[in-house]
Amino acid sequence: MLIFTKIAELHGYLSQIKAQNKTVGFVPTMGALHEGHVSLIKYSKNTCDYTICSVFVNPTQFNDKSDLERYPRMPEKDAALLESAYCDALFMPLVKEMYPGKNEKADFNFGYLDKILEGAHRPGHFNGVAQIVKRFFEIVNPDKAFFGSKDYQQVMIVKALVKQMHSDIEIVACPILREEDGLAMSSRNALMSKEERTIATNVPLIMQKAKQVAEVKGIESAKQFVAEQFAEIPGTRLDYFEICNAETLEILSEFIPGKKAVAVIAVFVGKIRLIDNLILN
Ligand code: AMP
Repeated sequence: MLIFTKIAELHGYLSQIKAQNKTVGFVPTMGALHEGHVSLIKYSKNTCDYTICSVFVNPTQFNDKSDLERYPRMPEKDAALLESAYCDALFMPLVKEMYPGKNEKADFNFGYLDKILEGAHRPGHFNGVAQIVKRFFEIVNPDKAFFGSKDYQQVMIVKALVKQMHSDIEIVACPILREEDGLAMSSRNALMSKEERTIATNVPLIMQKAKQVAEVKGIESAKQFVAEQFAEIPGTRLDYFEICNAETLEILSEFIPGKKAVAVIAVFVGKIRLIDNLILN
């Protein structure tokens, strides 16, 4: 596996690939890689000739400075994992390579989509995500880019971004990989204590139960159920739980006949904020 830190060197590599008319799959990450990330590499390798992964902890998408500071960083381990997954190239630039100007600003408008859920609870987050994804897309210009459905709203933002860019990069949403106990894999899981990790198992469990409550008693009952459940678990704090139209992410109070819905959650376990989602019938 080749490792690049400079855009110019990556461009040299990419132009060789393009000269052979080969396709490029791109997997952007913030590192501290786990099997969820590896699954995206596998999806890319299945349909593209070359797979490039980026590892970059993007400062502009963190609205909480201490979250940015404690975000896990383990570049050597990441490189080894990607190598064992037969990733072709790893791009791990420094912040100044991605943001050469001081205080580079970007101002995106995604309408309703970035004002709800993660957008409402993490102001500026999706602006930062769009800023870095646009920059990566301009640098790598892949045929396809692979994102995890764990970040459900992010996938929708990236699809909207690609439209705004008039780009033909195909955005592929891949399924959520989970630990044996159902917890969605996340780089942040490693930051939890043993006790917190045990408590975190409640997130997928309560989501599954909430799905049943929603399907039998309706959305408002499910929301009440989830709020009551977390209120009873010490060390947790529910940030939000909503049931949305799975296509538009419009927050629902009642199911729309014939339309798929998705339950979305953000919950603090200690200081660690976990997100998850579940498609409802
Ligand atoms: P991150 O490094 O957390 O920014 O994630 C990089 C990419 O991996 C994003 O597209 C995430 O949605 C995806 N991802 C993170 N966790 C998982 C998971 N458990 N299953 C599948 N994809 C994931």
